[in-house]
Amino acid sequence: MDFSDPPRVREILPKIRAFFASDLLLLERELLARRSFRALLPELGEARRKVKQLGLWAPHLPEAWGGMGLTLTEHARVSEELGKSPIGHYVFNCQAPDVGNMEILMQYGDDAQKRQFLTPLANGDIRSCFSMTEPDLPGSNPTWLGTQATLDGDEWVIRGRKWFTSSAEGAAFAIVMAVTDPDAAPHMRASQIIVPTDTKGFRIIRNIPVMGEPGDDYGSHAEVEYVDCRVPAKNLLGPRGGGFFVAQERLGPGRIHHAMRWIGIAERAFDLMCTRAATREVAPGKKLAHKQIVQGWIAECRAQIDAARLYVMHTAWRIEKEGAHEARDGISAIKFYVADVLTNVLDRAIQVHGALGLTDDTVLAYYYRHERAAHIYDGADEVHKVSLAKRIMKRYGVET
Ligand SMILES: Cc1cc2nc3c(=O)[nH]c(=O)nc-3n(C[C@H](O)[C@H](O)[C@H](O)COP(=O)(O)OP(=O)(O)OC[C@H]3O[C@@H](n4cnc5c(N)ncnc54)[C@H](O)[C@@H]3O)c2cc1C
Repeated sequence: MDFSDPPRVREILPKIRAFFASDLLLLERELLARRSFRALLPELGEARRKVKQLGLWAPHLPEAWGGMGLTLTEHARVSEELGKSPIGHYVFNCQAPDVGNMEILMQYGDDAQKRQFLTPLANGDIRSCFSMTEPDLPGSNPTWLGTQATLDGDEWVIRGRKWFTSSAEGAAFAIVMAVTDPDAAPHMRASQIIVPTDTKGFRIIRNIPVMGEPGDDYGSHAEVEYVDCRVPAKNLLGPRGGGFFVAQERLGPGRIHHAMRWIGIAERAFDLMCTRAATREVAPGKKLAHKQIVQGWIAECRAQIDAARLYVMHTAWRIEKEGAHEARDGISAIKFYVADVLTNVLDRAIQVHGALGLTDDTVLAYYYRHERAAHIYDGADEVHKVSLAKRIMKRYGVET
């Protein structure tokens, strides 16, 4: 077993670290101070141009699409590094939800859809959003949707209400999950349809404040109404009735990106925690690092992060070697396991900082506000636990 990073990753990581030190950490401080993504767009645009010049743009995309063409395991390590700042993925153009939308468009988009939507997305000229969850029905059951799309001549007419459509403000298009075939089997009822956001009937009702953050532009979560929203029939993305399966496919490799991003956040929090423990005196000559309880947290967090990384990397390796279906136990388990590690490490790091940990003088509180959601999005933890346990019990002959 060879645990060393592949040569490409060994070459890329120092470049990313250097760019973080020279540019991104300053920008991150601005984000924390201004508390507005929109206010920072000019500087972020400049940082994106530099990333392109450095040849580090869109690590997940094939070279033909202007990316670095990294494999899943290579990108996993890069995603960890980018997670060490809240703006890392955005500046390198591999941020959710665009990254998942790029993958769907690459896999299911026809030539015209790729030209119109994927090319500018890959270039970073536009952003997008993914509109599936609804306020009145459980997001945990994506086969149960209220939003309907009906064919009227050569147009889809979409009616419904969504929420937590992340980054809808400022997005050029949404990929919407809507019921097109209400009489089909539950898993075959919905389709994915591309809706340009300047379409009549696409209406952002509000940005939903989350954990005290009003949210704007890329850093927002919108409630969206589709009021007789008409788009051409050719905007169907993937097979009719195949929306659920396409969405599932979006989640496999996406889970690896997310989990490694979380590990990057945990590493950043761990570093801040250790730095604080090594410098904060609680009595003359006595540092927090001298306290056994803090030593215990440091040791436990180290072990948890390392175990989580090995689990995610092994799952990524299995997806590459055996396919997402064979790796599905790991894909479920890393969701809730790494989310637990992330929120535990963040919480410990804040505790070691005392009151300072709750301020925006460090990045910890920002991460805490934004990443509590890790237990909820991308499938609530409990849903993954239940489906993993069901699969395991099936092997013991019990259908649950
Ligand atoms: C920050 C953030 C960003 C998001 N971005 C997007 C986005 O861009 N696009 C989008 O479409 N959606 C997005 N979502 C929505 C997200 O996908 C849903 O919140 C998620 O699927 C859970 O659905 P729900 O909130 O309706 O919770 P519900 O389905 O109502 O579930 C509530 C709770 O019940 C429990 N539960 C549910 N089902 C089960 C079960 N089978 N067994 C045991 N317990 C269960 C879980 O604890 C769950 O947290 C985002 C959410 C957040 C918080």
